[in-house]
Amino acid sequence: MVYLDNAATTPVHPTVVQVIQDALINDFGNPSSTYRIGKSVKHALIQARKQLAELLNVSETDVYFTSGATEANNWAIIAQANKSREFGEGHHIVTTAIEHPSVTNVTKYLETQGFDVTYIQPNEEGEITVQQFLEATTDKTIGWIAMAVNNEVGSILPVQELGEAAYEQKLWFHVDTVQALGHLELDYQALKCTSFVGSAHKFNGPKGIGFLVYRTYQEHNHLEPLLHGGGQEGKMRSGTENVPYILGMVKALELAKKDITSNFEKFEELQAYLLTSLDSIGISYEINGDQKNRVPYINNLWFNGNIASQMLIKMDLDGVYISAGSACSAGSLTESEILKAYYPNQSERWSQSLRISFGYQTTKADIDQFIHTLEKITKGKIDLWHSNK
Ligand code: PMP
Repeated sequence: MVYLDNAATTPVHPTVVQVIQDALINDFGNPSSTYRIGKSVKHALIQARKQLAELLNVSETDVYFTSGATEANNWAIIAQANKSREFGEGHHIVTTAIEHPSVTNVTKYLETQGFDVTYIQPNEEGEITVQQFLEATTDKTIGWIAMAVNNEVGSILPVQELGEAAYEQKLWFHVDTVQALGHLELDYQALKCTSFVGSAHKFNGPKGIGFLVYRTYQEHNHLEPLLHGGGQEGKMRSGTENVPYILGMVKALELAKKDITSNFEKFEELQAYLLTSLDSIGISYEINGDQKNRVPYINNLWFNGNIASQMLIKMDLDGVYISAGSACSAGSLTESEILKAYYPNQSERWSQSLRISFGYQTTKADIDQFIHTLEKITKGKIDLWHSNK
């Protein structure tokens, strides 16, 4: 099996599996119970929050565990938008046209609730700039939202600079850091944002667990309880905590952070290898997204004349797992909204592009196998319906 879809999800690291298994077996108590086996789980939870805060260089009182980044994005954005409007600060939000659906569908929902939203389009170079955000900002603007790294094309957005500008403008600023966490060095303490989110399954942790970091350093941002009940997570998100997965997530981030530099160098090498291998066998491609500011671990390539959905089926038959655009959209193979935003006038590009994304376990042999299959496909050696496999 060749797995090159790590932006969709990652395999759980064996050490993380061990941590989760130990917790499931040995620490099954309810962290809210007052007897010893509950207290020891509570202690593990407190330590996990502390360690996550240390890994991110943020205050532990600002960390909320959630079921993932979709929940955390929904929670932070809706709470801030509603509170800002309640306080009469305005009803306009600026975000980008290349956000993940867990942001875009929230802002679309807010539009149905009377908010106005401006979606910044990438410029000619594929960049999203602070200037664009400033130009879109009016006296009705309450907050900005941007992702750190785009999940489909790997573009890096200037979130540090956006944070500085948002702070100056006295706006709340929410950042979706899902595709950066554990892979791209970012100073989360210096990042002047009111909130950011993470999802364990993007850095070799389990699915269904993530977090929100929420800082109330602007008067204008306010978090409201998401779930009412037993009062867990500082009365903000009730429900018995998923301690085994929380411990697994923190271990996964610890491991990812430890190797962040060496993995990044490896990803640069793999990226160069991928592109030179394509060049050497004469398969033409164009790189999608921001040409200058992009991460090496997400590569989105346009293979002109080849339909992505057909290529994916052939790849699947050969045991090569990649995706066309966002596989997070419930397995749908609709044209990519992100590529539409980047290339509004190149409709063929929307359905002829593949995303190849690396993880710590990716090898050059994986890339060789991908190239081998791609060569068979593009040079017509595999007939889709009469595959030799
Ligand atoms: N934001 C980005 C940029 C993502 O890539 C994803 C996952 N595809 C999410 C948010 C949602 O994360 P989760 O799967 O934890 O809900």
